[in-house]
Amino acid sequence: MIKELPKTYEFSDHEERIYTWWENSGFFKPINDPMEPDFDPTIKPFVIVIPPPNVTGELHLGHPLFISTDDVMIRYHRMKGESTLWVPGTDHAGIATQLQVVKMLAAKGLKKEDIGREAFLEEMWAWKQKYGGIITKQIRRMGASCDWTRERFTMDEGLSKAVREAFVRLYEKGLIYRGYRMINWAPGLQTAVSDLEVEYSEELGRLYYFKYMLSDGSGRFIPVATTRPETILGDTAVAVHPEDERYREFIGQKVIVPMLDREVPVIADTYVEREFGTGALKITPGHDPHDYEIGIRHNLEVINILNKDATINENGKQYEGLDRFDCRNRIWEDMRQSELVIKDEAYLMNVPKSQRGGEIVEPMVSNQWFVKIEPLAKPAIDAVKNGSVKIVPERFNKVYFNWMDNIEDWCISRQLWWGHRIPVWYCQSCGHMTVSREDASICENCGSHDIYQDPDVLDTWFSSGLWPFSVLGWPEETPDYKYFYPTSVLATGYDILFFWVARMILDGIEFTGQPPFHTVYLHGLVRDEKGQKMSKTKNNSIDPLTVMDEYGTDALRFTLLVGSTPGNDMSISVKKIEANRNFANKVWNVGRFVIGSLSKAPEFANNQPDWTLADSWIWARKRQLVRNVESLFETYQFGEAGKQIYEFLWNEFADWYLEISKVQIEEGGDRAYYTAFVLTNVLDTILRLLHPFTPYVTEALWDYLRDVCKEQYPKFGPENGWEEALIIAKWPTENLEESWENEKIAQFQTIQNLVKAIRNIRSEKKVAPHKKIGAVIIAGEKKAIINSQITTISSLAGLDQSNLKFLDKMDGSLEDFVSIVVDGVEVYLPLAGLVDKSEEKDRLLKELNEIKSQIERLENLLSSPFSQKAPAAVVNNEREKLLTYKETAQKIEEQLAS
Ligand SMILES: [Zn+2]
Repeated sequence: MIKELPKTYEFSDHEERIYTWWENSGFFKPINDPMEPDFDPTIKPFVIVIPPPNVTGELHLGHPLFISTDDVMIRYHRMKGESTLWVPGTDHAGIATQLQVVKMLAAKGLKKEDIGREAFLEEMWAWKQKYGGIITKQIRRMGASCDWTRERFTMDEGLSKAVREAFVRLYEKGLIYRGYRMINWAPGLQTAVSDLEVEYSEELGRLYYFKYMLSDGSGRFIPVATTRPETILGDTAVAVHPEDERYREFIGQKVIVPMLDREVPVIADTYVEREFGTGALKITPGHDPHDYEIGIRHNLEVINILNKDATINENGKQYEGLDRFDCRNRIWEDMRQSELVIKDEAYLMNVPKSQRGGEIVEPMVSNQWFVKIEPLAKPAIDAVKNGSVKIVPERFNKVYFNWMDNIEDWCISRQLWWGHRIPVWYCQSCGHMTVSREDASICENCGSHDIYQDPDVLDTWFSSGLWPFSVLGWPEETPDYKYFYPTSVLATGYDILFFWVARMILDGIEFTGQPPFHTVYLHGLVRDEKGQKMSKTKNNSIDPLTVMDEYGTDALRFTLLVGSTPGNDMSISVKKIEANRNFANKVWNVGRFVIGSLSKAPEFANNQPDWTLADSWIWARKRQLVRNVESLFETYQFGEAGKQIYEFLWNEFADWYLEISKVQIEEGGDRAYYTAFVLTNVLDTILRLLHPFTPYVTEALWDYLRDVCKEQYPKFGPENGWEEALIIAKWPTENLEESWENEKIAQFQTIQNLVKAIRNIRSEKKVAPHKKIGAVIIAGEKKAIINSQITTISSLAGLDQSNLKFLDKMDGSLEDFVSIVVDGVEVYLPLAGLVDKSEEKDRLLKELNEIKSQIERLENLLSSPFSQKAPAAVVNNEREKLLTYKETAQKIEEQLAS
């Protein structure tokens, strides 16, 4: 007994059940697994490592986008029979995660210093244990078919070993050094933060103009402007453009730092823009990255005026101890008293803020660890230049080169407790630094036990850069590493091309000798329907969990995938997701219809098939679709592939073939049997093609289809029998185009055009939908095909088949008929009484104009270089179209003349 297909697709009845079944059946594991017997190392695998989401699990629409994109590729390659591996995992995400626990402690009235480093880290791990699973549950919920037996976390033992190995190797090669440099300092978090973790927000501030008095007592001054007057305390020069007439005479002289009475030089530097502000710049090498560069060029002193909590330090003299913003007001007031103020005015500025805490970040010089990037960058540039890494879309190559050519040393130390601790031990006795893969207990130089480990941890991106090989076991030559590395494709948003993708490429080449993947696929960012960035403050963000609850996972996945083109941002709205929920329902309803039809057809055929035009047409279109989808997948155009499957299912299979199949099944006998075969086969193909996009509804439906066929139509299945599950079913085989395909498609299109035209007239003339009407048909050259399809046409267009007349040419008896001309076929409908002569004439004129413009377009096209450049078959096709248009135009003109 066949289980009955429920009337509607309730995604909540299926999603969890199906996912658990897939996972428990081992479908997510590679079919050729180095950890299993019968492993064959010569089979080439397809491998993706997941961009590891933060273990904090703040889910946003970017997650389902990259997860769906990865999953589409993984499912496609798995169905092609490849040994496919998708490694899942999470990132410890330094600051973000540490903040969670800091907040938790704060609720208890505690600071992390109160409990100490060791106890704090215990709290961190406990937190990770408790909440770390949330994000992976959500990844599962999105249908991600990754191999959970290989799940990794950036602070796993193996991955931590990889981090140490990488650090020590770079240090030994002289590519890691410790230095006093300009970094971004987050005073609240009390750590350096990377450029990536700084966001700029446009805010209204003030621009303060003041006098830099010359030290010669002449009373002359250089006017200077700043947005941060407190930094005056750290000024070590005033810079002007060497060719600026206004200030040329001051170059080389000394000016006096307001309120501190320190003398600093006036220097000349072409960096200064004469047109900007007063044309003179105060230079604070300790608290401005550009000034820092100028400072190096002119050998200026670097003065740090801030404590780690951003209060003023002893270098601020009388201002010591003040918060920086209080100091700003105080020093400005004091300067006003001293008559050094010129004016201050409102000013729109870009304020650097910490992405995490939201606090204002201060540029500050400090002792940090850096990676010397330039020597690493060169091979990474070459890898993209020589094509061993391909970036899709290609236009991002330019961005990549531009960035890599101008790359600066990377500050890798963070003043946090959560993360990979820097493997450096300082000797209290001799000052030597011991850098070691193992925890050190004595100084390698003097043997002293009086050593302590650097308290800082490494930037999260240091470990993320190693991700594609550390997850597979590197630096050990594990079976997984040997077989699955290098991986295949890395898919991610273009926004982290530099911060993450570029680092993986340069690390991969440095540590493994090979780029970590052959292709980088960059998708766009998700925006709202107006194209604006989604954010909680704008109240325009869509919560993926809420929409999955409401519309199902397939609807969300399909919306994101179909909306996406390589490298371009996309607009998403709840309406679109709702529409795709309807698509999932449509798939289900089409399935119900097909399965329902099977019970109406006989179980055996008596003779060889005699295909109808509709059969041949849908078969040809299915073959075309398989070819198109294949070539779109090869070029990473998943969105377009999804669109074509959608349109085929809805506009062709459902709207046309399903309607026609009703009539063919009613005919009974072999006709019904073979119609059932076409219905089954086309649906089976659609479900296979659609599976990577909407895995749940396709798997659920396919399961029914297979069971019904197995029981009732054993011959309908795939050549090698039905597979155990759609997720591991065979991808439709690509086929070569055959000559009959286009002919059948063109013939059927004539039928479609005719039916559409008759339906339009009927609705225009308000003929009741079920009322059958007679017709006179003058088909000319197409007489044979129209005759053979008259049953189909009649049933689809509501014609009364017993009341049809075929004529060779028009005669006077058709005067009161409404006429239409389609593809050279004339149809006269006896809608007398409903016909308004002048209205009818207007309609024909309108139609004629449309056709004439088509004729003009094609004539232009065919007289252009197109006819030489395009393939002959394509050109011929256009020529034929032109002839048909001309024929149609002539017939309409005749009707107008009569
Ligand atoms: Zn020592």
